Amino acid sequence: MKKNIAEIISVSNEIYDKGLVSGKSGNISARFGDVVAITPTLKSLSNMKEEDIVLVSMQGEVLTKGKPSSEVNMHLEIYKKRPDVKAIVHTHSPYATGFAFSDKKLKRLEGFGQIKNQYISSIEYQKPGTDELAKSASEGIGDEDVLILKNHGVICVSDDLREAMLLAVFVEETAKTQFVTLMLNSVKIN
Ligand SMILES: [Zn+2]
Repeated sequence: MKKNIAEIISVSNEIYDKGLVSGKSGNISARFGDVVAITPTLKSLSNMKEEDIVLVSMQGEVLTKGKPSSEVNMHLEIYKKRPDVKAIVHTHSPYATGFAFSDKKLKRLEGFGQIKNQYISSIEYQKPGTDELAKSASEGIGDEDVLILKNHGVICVSDDLREAMLLAVFVEETAKTQFVTLMLNSVKIN
């Protein structure tokens, strides 16, 4: 478990350094059998320590010291619906979240796994930290690996934490590309 917690800390640092989360936003988790290790509430992902990572049971019982992320139920509900998912990365990365606040859909571009749907699925806004969001996100993700939370952010899931992070990076980069494309297409030259 020590090694797994070390990986959560290193992925937390990486997604912070890459600018996918800022301030105290974002949360990540990984599941090991019936136990989920998750980042804590109200702490920046930039300097997690081993003792900051909170272990919870699949039923939501807190097994260690500290308080888990306010989105812990969203993580648990996704794990319950998707036994194949072993890791979840939730960010408010700026470009993808910009799309989440807009009326524009985000296209799934080539470059990361099989494309099942042309557009990344999204769910309507639910207040962060609520059971409604947990329910809606766990249903909305279906068998996909990315979900846009309207007016909020992005969720990426995988059977591997590092892969979930790479997917979050990829989604942000594709959002950036699509933003630039939309801007260029809206400019009239001559
Ligand atoms: Zn959030």
